[in-house]
Amino acid sequence: MRENIEAAIDTVTLADGVVLEDNWFAVKALDDTTIAIGEPAYHQRNWSYLVSDGDDSLLFDTGSGRRPIGPVVARHGRPCVRAFPSHMHFDHLGNINAFGPVIAADLPMLRAIETGGALRPPEEMFLGASEALPAPTFEVGSWVAPGDMVKVGSRTLQVVHTPGHSPDSVSLWEAERNRFYAADFIYRGALYAQTPGASLPDYLRICEQLLNELPEEVEIVCAHGQPENGLDDAPILGYRDLLALRDAVAKLLRDNPRTGEVPVNDRMYLLFSVESFLSTSGQK
Ligand SMILES: [Zn+2]
Repeated sequence: MRENIEAAIDTVTLADGVVLEDNWFAVKALDDTTIAIGEPAYHQRNWSYLVSDGDDSLLFDTGSGRRPIGPVVARHGRPCVRAFPSHMHFDHLGNINAFGPVIAADLPMLRAIETGGALRPPEEMFLGASEALPAPTFEVGSWVAPGDMVKVGSRTLQVVHTPGHSPDSVSLWEAERNRFYAADFIYRGALYAQTPGASLPDYLRICEQLLNELPEEVEIVCAHGQPENGLDDAPILGYRDLLALRDAVAKLLRDNPRTGEVPVNDRMYLLFSVESFLSTSGQK
C-alpha cells in the first residue's frame, strides 16, 4: 500500500482558481483572507485552511507532512501563525512543530495525554503505523474548549466538538462568513467511521446538533477532497450533505451492528465497523 501513498503531481489536474505551489500543494483563495491548501497527489487528498486577519493567521490542520507546508503558509500568512489540529490523526499533524506552540482542543482525552505542557498522541489516536509514521511531540500554547471563541485578528471562530470520526475531533464555525470548517466530520469521498474511536451514535448526535444550529446556506469546508470530473478543488459541502449523512447514519443504526460501507449521496460514502455501532465518546 505504501507505494500508493503519493501519485505523480503531473497526474493531478487542478480546477480553475487552484494554483500549484512547491510542486505539491494546491492553493485556493476562498476569500481575500482565507486560503485552502490541498495535497491532491497524496492519497488522502488532505486540505488545510489558513485563516488570516491583521497580523494573525490560524492554520487549521497542518497537512500530511509529505512535504513542508511551512513555506506555503509563510507566503500567504501573516507574521503570527498559530496551528490548530482538528484531531490527532497523523494526516492532520504533519510538520506541526514548524508552527511553535499550538492550539489544542480542551477535551478530556487530550488533557489525559498531556505531559509537561506537551502532547504526544498514542498510536490508537494517531494511527500513523499504516504509513510508518512516528507520532510527534508538540508543545501546547493554549487550550480552547468547545464553545470557546478563537480570535484571529478581528475574526472569530467558535470551537465545536464534533466526535463521530474520532472522539477528539473539533470543527470551527465562523458565523460572520457563514463558514463551517468541518475537518474530518464530513468531507467528500469515503467517511471513516471504521477507525478506532469512531462512533455512529456520535455521528448521528452531532449531525442533529449541526442541522439545528447551522443556517441552511452554510458553506462547509472539508479536510479531504476527491476529484470531481477529474479536477481537484477545495472540497466544499452544504447543508443537504449533512442531512444526507444524518439520514444514512440513522438508517444504519436501525440495523444490527456490522462492518461495511454504504453510500450517503453522490458525494460521500460511509465506512463503518461493528465497534462504531456501539462506541460513544460519552461527551455531551
Ligand atoms: Zn481523521
